[in-house]
Amino acid sequence: MHSRSRSRAETRRRYAAIELRKDVRFLDAVFFLFFFRYFILIMVPMCFILPTVIPVYAWNETWDISASSVLVRYVLGLNFTFSVNSFAHLWGNRPYNRTLKSTENPVVSFFTVGEGWHNYHHCFPWDYKAAELSFYRLNLTTAFIDFMAWLGWAYDLKTPNPELVDKLCENKGDGTNGLSRGKVGISEISDTVQ
Ligand SMILES: [Zn+2]
Repeated sequence: MHSRSRSRAETRRRYAAIELRKDVRFLDAVFFLFFFRYFILIMVPMCFILPTVIPVYAWNETWDISASSVLVRYVLGLNFTFSVNSFAHLWGNRPYNRTLKSTENPVVSFFTVGEGWHNYHHCFPWDYKAAELSFYRLNLTTAFIDFMAWLGWAYDLKTPNPELVDKLCENKGDGTNGLSRGKVGISEISDTVQ
């Protein structure tokens, strides 16, 4: 009797959690639809107008320096992004799958805040880390997602089982380790701490 009422309470709690998640997904969808619909109206002020105007009025920057630094930042940002699909498909090692063009490229990872572990990313495109190891390998994007998960704003983060990754490297990798696999894994660090 007691356990039955408890299980009913548990069912109600689970149902409430599912409903809450549906609400959150609905709000997510509304937010993204709004963003896609008004992309230009949001992007142009946030990306160009505000970063040009704020320095001029906030600390008396000249218009030409303010505008040119915004443009330089935009061009660099685009080039760093494109470097993932150029340099990280040309230079670097292929520890996960040597038959793919994409490579592990620490320099690209540095400039793209973690998107250069690209051989791994092509093998496990659904891993939220976009790399085998997390944020301390030139991957601040993962640190940001982990922080959001800590706040509870990011959830259902997917990552493959380490044995699966090892098996893929054994079967298809080029035999290198590089910075992406490295010798200092997360478990080894926690072993040293203990
Ligand atoms: Zn690619």
